Amino acid sequence: MVNRALDVVLLGPPGAGKGTQAKRVAAAFELLHLSTGDLLRDEVTRRTGLGEQAKAFMNRGELVPDTLVGKMLATRLHSQPAALGCAFDGYPRTTAQAQLLDGLLAELNRRVDVVLYLRVEDDEILRRLTGRRSCPACGAVYHTVTQPPMVGGVCDACRATLVQRDDDRDEVVRERLRVYREHTTPLLALYRDRGNLREVDGSSGADEVFERLREVMGRVRR
Ligand code: AMP
Repeated sequence: MVNRALDVVLLGPPGAGKGTQAKRVAAAFELLHLSTGDLLRDEVTRRTGLGEQAKAFMNRGELVPDTLVGKMLATRLHSQPAALGCAFDGYPRTTAQAQLLDGLLAELNRRVDVVLYLRVEDDEILRRLTGRRSCPACGAVYHTVTQPPMVGGVCDACRATLVQRDDDRDEVVRERLRVYREHTTPLLALYRDRGNLREVDGSSGADEVFERLREVMGRVRR
């Protein structure tokens, strides 16, 4: 019997490790990693119409309007085989987005099967995000204190100069946390009421967190 597509949402504050863990979950369970943040940054880099509109919101730490992100997500979902499930990273972020996602998945005979909530305290978030550096060429992610590159400021893999995301500056991180609390935390109750929220302590190292997620995922019924 062929298993039904499995759709997983990663929830948590900015810097909780959603990107890192979504990539690992996607690889381990053969899902498409779908990060709206990555898709938006790509639009900004390519200077598309959407990128130009999204850029100012992103640089201020605000949410890009639901309609813009929703269209981008729908296009991405429709351009892949319907049988391939997704690890959604950074989507949904509002209750309206959660409803849109339900609708898009229902069209494909799918649903949100499990929501992995990575819990991390604010102090740890600030420490993680303000030290985060990434490689503009290959996307590798480093941390100035906990995971420095071999040569300061240079990517180990491709030697490109590492950059700090514009929205990882201290004051923007604080705004992103505020926006998360106001708009995204209501989703915790929504998914908890549906019975598919699984809370995991995201404060330890990436390997340890992934082991916990893998355990949780192993118990998800398709
Ligand atoms: P992330 O990489 O997930 O932290 O996203 C970076 C930024 O992209 C966010 O601070 C928002 O400005 C924007 N963004 C990403 N995903 C969404 C979304 N689902 N809705 C609105 N804005 C988003």
